[in-house]
Amino acid sequence: MPSALERRVEPQRENLVGESECDDAAAHREDVGIVVQARQPRRVEIVAERRADADDLVRRDLLALAAAAEDDAAVGLALGDRTRDRKADRRVVDRRFAVGAVVVDGVPEARDRLLEMFFQRETRVVGADRDSHDGRLYYKDHYRMIPSVVISARGEDRLRGGHPWIYRADVADARAAAGDIVVVKNPRGQIVGSALYSDRSQIALRVLVEGEQPADISLIRRRIEAAAAFRTSLDIDATAYRLVHGEGDRLPSLIVDRYGDYLVVQTLSQGMDRLMPEIVAALTDLLHPRGIVARNDPRARTFEGLEQRVDIMAGEVPETVRVTEAGIGYDVDLRHGQKTGLFLDQRENRMAAALYAGGRLLDCFSYNGGFALALGRKCRETIAIDVSEDAIARVRQNAASNGIAVDARVGNVFDELRGLDRLGERFDTIVLDPPAFAKNKAAVANARAGYKEINLRALKLLNPGGVLVTCSCSYHVNEALLAEIVYEAAVDARAHVTVVEKRMQGRDHPVMLGVPETYYLKCFILRKLA
Ligand code: SAH
Repeated sequence: MPSALERRVEPQRENLVGESECDDAAAHREDVGIVVQARQPRRVEIVAERRADADDLVRRDLLALAAAAEDDAAVGLALGDRTRDRKADRRVVDRRFAVGAVVVDGVPEARDRLLEMFFQRETRVVGADRDSHDGRLYYKDHYRMIPSVVISARGEDRLRGGHPWIYRADVADARAAAGDIVVVKNPRGQIVGSALYSDRSQIALRVLVEGEQPADISLIRRRIEAAAAFRTSLDIDATAYRLVHGEGDRLPSLIVDRYGDYLVVQTLSQGMDRLMPEIVAALTDLLHPRGIVARNDPRARTFEGLEQRVDIMAGEVPETVRVTEAGIGYDVDLRHGQKTGLFLDQRENRMAAALYAGGRLLDCFSYNGGFALALGRKCRETIAIDVSEDAIARVRQNAASNGIAVDARVGNVFDELRGLDRLGERFDTIVLDPPAFAKNKAAVANARAGYKEINLRALKLLNPGGVLVTCSCSYHVNEALLAEIVYEAAVDARAHVTVVEKRMQGRDHPVMLGVPETYYLKCFILRKLA
């Protein structure tokens, strides 16, 4: 049988206790499993794990095991070495047992059985012989096996720098199961934080808190409360916005978006996923939504070995929910829409761009018509293009319900831009809001070509004095690179371009200093000079 720690799970009581649940004489002779870890972090390994009769274990082996924990080379020696045993007594009593030995399961004393039964108290008593050990060697064990992960020095540096992700390569030892909240230890065995553990993702740990403060659902609840309070303080001119932005709110891998009276939740790691019921309860208490939907269908969940699914977690959620943003109404499909229904991260960029919009507008990658509608109110004519038929159907519906004229076309922007140029069409305002062309580092070269192509085409289609709103939501194409690409496009298009505004994702999607991954959306508002 592989040892408990090798299997990285806490042994189930049944595995060890066997017959104990039966009300018979055998119950007094339950098996006890005891795991003793070496204290030196370099030698963190199982010194011994026994399946033994409780009496035997306590009288003979426990002390030896504890002694062995001090020096794992001495297992054999310790067993027969009286002096060492006696020395081990002191360690067992004062420190060793409490610190290093983990009682996987123990023998409840008769009195404790009652407590266990009536009060469901977990009693783990290792009944050492009281008399022969000064009355001090009588232990109630409260040290359940706390899942823990030892990280490398490099991992510790990242953690101290405030980065919440520790990669698998920086995990030296993991004694935890998928989705556990774990204690994180440095190579010296000191506790440096608590984190969500994933046994699948390259991001093995998502740090919840540094230092020895415990991480539990009440911490997560407080963070959700703080995140929601911050959104209230922003005085957002919309009924749809992001309430919790994962790492940016110190709630790694948790997304909560508000759409009027409804909430959309995403749990993107094993740990957050396991906490879903508590998160739903916290959101219900704090915000009293009419319904909560879990949009757990992003592909990112497959990296965690999690299913892609959509569930109603609380209340009822209608087919479409009407929200408003800067006076424009949108019907949003919370179950099937892209992202969680709308691209909330662009709200403030839509509002900003509206200040400069005018004349003939071309909204490329329009989705439900966010930019087309926000800017179209000020434009003479609006064309919106998206490859998705569903998206274009919604643009038409949203345009009609807001009384804004939009010529919404299903098409591939790369082809359409060329086609418009061939037809000699020109525009005064163009928006480029493509999906992430670079989903990983390896894709940056191709992405670069794609971004350059659309920016070059757009700059050619733009009348002098016209405005180009150009965006990238690829984290791997950072602001400097996007500026460089657009500059190269401008040179090729023989256009002189000035930067009117340099923008990013909305304030409800906070960027965490020191965590570059939280800064993913870049938006330049540019002007093509005559
Ligand atoms: N501007 C939108 C969000 C755009 S998201 C807003 O403010 O709400 C990117 C959109 O690009 C998606 O709707 C997707 O369907 C569309 N898309 C992806 N590739 C495309 C392509 N090659 N041509 C046209 N649309 C594309």
